[in-house]
Amino acid sequence: MLQFEDTDFVAPGGSTAVGVSDSEAGTGVLGGTETSFKRVRIEDKRVINGKADVNQLVPFKYKWAWDKYLAGCANHWMPQEINMSRDITTWKDPSGLSEDERLIVKRNLGFFVTADSLAANNIVLGTYRHITAPECRQYLLRQAFEEAIHTHAYQYIVESLGLDEGEIFNAYHEISSIRDKDDFLIPFIETLTDPSFKTGTPEADQKLLKSLIVFACIMEGLFFYVGFAQILALGRQNKMTGAAEQYQYILRDESMHCNFGIDLINQIKLENPHLWTSEFREEICGLMRKGVELEYRYAEDTMPRGVLGLNAPMFKEYLRFVANRRCQQIGLDILFPGASNPFPWMSEMIDLKKEKNFFETRVTEYQTGGALSWE
Ligand code: FE
Repeated sequence: MLQFEDTDFVAPGGSTAVGVSDSEAGTGVLGGTETSFKRVRIEDKRVINGKADVNQLVPFKYKWAWDKYLAGCANHWMPQEINMSRDITTWKDPSGLSEDERLIVKRNLGFFVTADSLAANNIVLGTYRHITAPECRQYLLRQAFEEAIHTHAYQYIVESLGLDEGEIFNAYHEISSIRDKDDFLIPFIETLTDPSFKTGTPEADQKLLKSLIVFACIMEGLFFYVGFAQILALGRQNKMTGAAEQYQYILRDESMHCNFGIDLINQIKLENPHLWTSEFREEICGLMRKGVELEYRYAEDTMPRGVLGLNAPMFKEYLRFVANRRCQQIGLDILFPGASNPFPWMSEMIDLKKEKNFFETRVTEYQTGGALSWE
């Protein structure tokens, strides 16, 4: 007989995989073995350090996570569906783009070709095992695949344009403004991927929360935004529209990742209010300021002169505006009073409707079941 009691089945992160009410105990057969079990109750589910069976998606408690999983699936896309022939012609034409525009494209890809691999590792090797709500795990699985699609998209653009792969894929070692952003992030990723790291003490739970905030609010929520705005600005001028279209889908996915991360953070705060101390909040504000500084340095490096109607000081304002928004979303006071949004068109890009993309190069309608033939 297999006993699934709290002490028998300890999940990574120090949490037990099964733990339910005494009143709903029973016996059943699991994998041919008679098993004693207790049914999962909603009130036993927790985002971290939960005691309920992580294998049972229902009964739903975190409906917001399930809804984001469904929305992510509804937004499914693949890079090779996007035609790159116009971009290739533009890139090969010596007068197709200015030198400053070419620098933007190369620096952009230099950051993003490895950024989504870092993001994927963070989810798969880190975050996932510390989260004990199956609805949230379901979304993280979808998110992990989307990170793979994004890396695929950047690789597809590099290959289509015939760029030097060694140069682009090594930019995170060789270009200081890119390396500095990654050097800032990596310790927070390593906290979660360290095999000996376990949640369950206030100190460890704060470490987890801090890493989640850095990842959602600074990496996905801030470090991606200079790059997105630059390539989408190219697209708005009818240049590199295939690349811009892919960035547009990526931006839509990433804004969902960021929003999921923020919901996750706020749910952990709600369930563990003792973690949200004034020292902790102060530390987070310091990290946000550092993030703005690093991303601004990246903006200056990618845009030594004004280009496409954009310039580095506009990005300083934009990053302050975005950082304020991230602070508000997790319940912190804003850091930069009065910062406004110099790129209101970015909001339209984020709110892209599924039916039609902004550059109108393609109708995006994902069909799965309807295309199958059983003949
Ligand atoms: Fe992401």
